[in-house]
Amino acid sequence: MEKPSASLWRKIKARYNLIGNECKNCGTRYFPPRIVCRKCGRKSKMSDFKFNGDGEIVSFTKISVPPDTFKDEAPYFVGVVKLAEGPQVEGHIIDNGGKIAIGTKVRAAFRKMYVDGDEGLIYYHYKFEPV
Ligand SMILES: [Zn+2]
Repeated sequence: MEKPSASLWRKIKARYNLIGNECKNCGTRYFPPRIVCRKCGRKSKMSDFKFNGDGEIVSFTKISVPPDTFKDEAPYFVGVVKLAEGPQVEGHIIDNGGKIAIGTKVRAAFRKMYVDGDEGLIYYHYKFEPV
């Protein structure tokens, strides 16, 4: 069996900790992390950046007919959140009693994402929660 690659572990680390990166040349931040800054190209100086998870809802939609993985959760919300520290990220948004609207302040929280039926494995991921 092939050993998990460094890039896979990097992705897992990023998924659990909301770690992206920042270009030290121009200050642009990315999530997920990029190898090269979109603005600076070869002058990029990338370094890890852990986002604090605070942001605001830019757009959202209610999912009533989900893919099989999330069939037990429907209806639920997904959307785009603009992080206070820079980039926009996609994610699930937790509905705490009808507070979801464009401009609602949210914070990333780690929540159960889905259970793998065959293995019984529970997957976690960040979700956004109104604050
Ligand atoms: Zn840059």
